[in-house]
Amino acid sequence: MTRTQVALVGIGKIALDQHVPAITASPDFELAATISRNGQVPGIQAFTDFATFLAERPDIPVVSLCLPPVPRFAYAEAALLAGRHVMLEKPPGATLAEVHELEALAKAKGLTLYATWHSRMAHAVAPAKAWLADKTVRQAHITWREDVRKWHPGQDWVFQPGGMGVFDPGINALSILTEILPKPVHLTKATLEFPENRQTPIAAQLTFSGNVTADFDWRQEGPQTWDIEAQTDKGTLALRMGGNVLEIDGKPAAGENTIMGEYPALYARMADLVHQKGSDVDLAPMVHVADALTLGERRITDAFDF
Ligand code: NAP
Repeated sequence: MTRTQVALVGIGKIALDQHVPAITASPDFELAATISRNGQVPGIQAFTDFATFLAERPDIPVVSLCLPPVPRFAYAEAALLAGRHVMLEKPPGATLAEVHELEALAKAKGLTLYATWHSRMAHAVAPAKAWLADKTVRQAHITWREDVRKWHPGQDWVFQPGGMGVFDPGINALSILTEILPKPVHLTKATLEFPENRQTPIAAQLTFSGNVTADFDWRQEGPQTWDIEAQTDKGTLALRMGGNVLEIDGKPAAGENTIMGEYPALYARMADLVHQKGSDVDLAPMVHVADALTLGERRITDAFDF
């Protein structure tokens, strides 16, 4: 079977950690070009300028954008205007309005736009959703605590306007929450901790309707914690390891303790969307982040440097 050619934009941490291995192993896609000012993938045609790529490789129909959220819109818009299907890393943009604009553009051009949420592809998310479907959630709590120095080494953009700070990983938890809850919730309160020398929060405590709370912190060294726990009318659910492992009433119930299935599943979904001429743009996780930044009480905390 012929594989569809894809170009990867923004050859940095996530492109090299996840996208390149996922595309290399994909039965659907073949990495045909990269566009990055500094990064390259050995053996793959490399461009440093997106307009040059669009002009010289009209035969590559799919573009996957791995840049940080702030520069991403201009690339996505140019790709769609040039007739390419587009895959967006999470969070799908710097603002909600710009993603709505991209969605309308993709629709008008008959192209696929896929706003990916890699954590929704974690092994135990679908089983957790199925288990919760006929239950009443009485209380739920998210603990998402990781080390920014490990996952975003030296990446100052995460602390610049639009970088979202601790919501960059926290939005992964929200992408799972909005996928698995049988009834939607909305944010009612937030406390945001901003390092005195930075523009985005390094920690956040959130309260939602329906007794749902979240604790996001980017200062956790040692073991990392990505857990969602829920008490229901018919037992207790715990999703651990970023949605990859499911426990019901304290006993293992489904999943596999690895994140390596997430990006292959994203590319399989992209292949389906292109085939069906469809798009998938769910902004529910980003709505919660925007609400937290709108409603949140701001506290100043210690300066942070990498
Ligand atoms: P990164 O390594 O800092 O950035 C990726 C690449 O984007 C950079 O190497 C850079 O390549 C290019 N870039 C950066 N700023 C740019 C700008 N202003 N204009 C044009 N290109 C620019 O970031 P990352 O960790 O890969 O994260 C990228 C996206 O993936 C984010 O949305 C993040 O949330 C998501 N993500 C990250 C992780 C993770 O563990 N880090 C996990 C899942 C998802 P050149 O300098 O070569 O142009």
